[in-house]
Amino acid sequence: MSEQQTALWPRPRLLHAEDVGVSNGNGNAANGNGRARRLPTINGRVVDPNEISAEVEEMGAEEAIAWAIESFGPSLGFAVSFQKTSSVIIDIAHRIDPSVRFFYLDTELLFPETYETRDALAARYGIEFERFVQDNPSRLRERWEAGEWGEDDDCCATRKVETMRRAIEGTDCWVSGVRRLDSETRAQAARFGWDIRFDRWKLNPLVDWDDRAVWNHIKDHHIPYNPLHDQGYPSIGCMPCTTKPGPGGDARAGRWAGTDRTECGLNG
Ligand code: SF4
Repeated sequence: MSEQQTALWPRPRLLHAEDVGVSNGNGNAANGNGRARRLPTINGRVVDPNEISAEVEEMGAEEAIAWAIESFGPSLGFAVSFQKTSSVIIDIAHRIDPSVRFFYLDTELLFPETYETRDALAARYGIEFERFVQDNPSRLRERWEAGEWGEDDDCCATRKVETMRRAIEGTDCWVSGVRRLDSETRAQAARFGWDIRFDRWKLNPLVDWDDRAVWNHIKDHHIPYNPLHDQGYPSIGCMPCTTKPGPGGDARAGRWAGTDRTECGLNG
């Protein structure tokens, strides 16, 4: 742990509850789901999200992951999608602390190559990825079999967002592979901040990485990665909602192509 890391943690100003009120969305008011909002705390202390976000922004990916592991301990959860960014994050985090928790949301509509990547990473690192799957109500199964998906938020909301809420129960911070170059809607993403959607901290360690940096890390460390990337898929989600983007689109142009959707509800 570097001097910068050990010095970082005590620095955020201690706040009172009213300091993190409705104005920045971090207050203790009920949110849209009727749940009481949590206060932005680390190790039981309320901190200023803007201050800590600015400090973590200055860190590189490895330092930010190491800091989060030290700061949150077992209440840190790494969400992995088995895309190329997951390969990098798994490699970095596992080298820092092999006991960290990795989980994934199994929509039951993932590509076979994605499951193969999961198995290859599990074998390489000895990781047991925690699997979370929706309850699979018959209504969704009927829609899937009828070829009706993607246009109605119920599918993502059920298969992903509600499943995510179960996956992060008991965590204070979750980790994602969001990068600013993914899409316009992610261009302002912070490396670390308070996630109003899930009422907890969120770390995007690779937020400023470009594709070259991602692939260099994968190749340099001989890390298994999703072979669909080699087949022209820059972004990989569920089979029904993932296509190869045409020329000129951003990396996520192949997700929900032909619709107005750009996010599933986990990251925006
Ligand atoms: S990405 Fe498509 S198939 Fe997957 S959960 Fe969302 S709408 Fe359903």
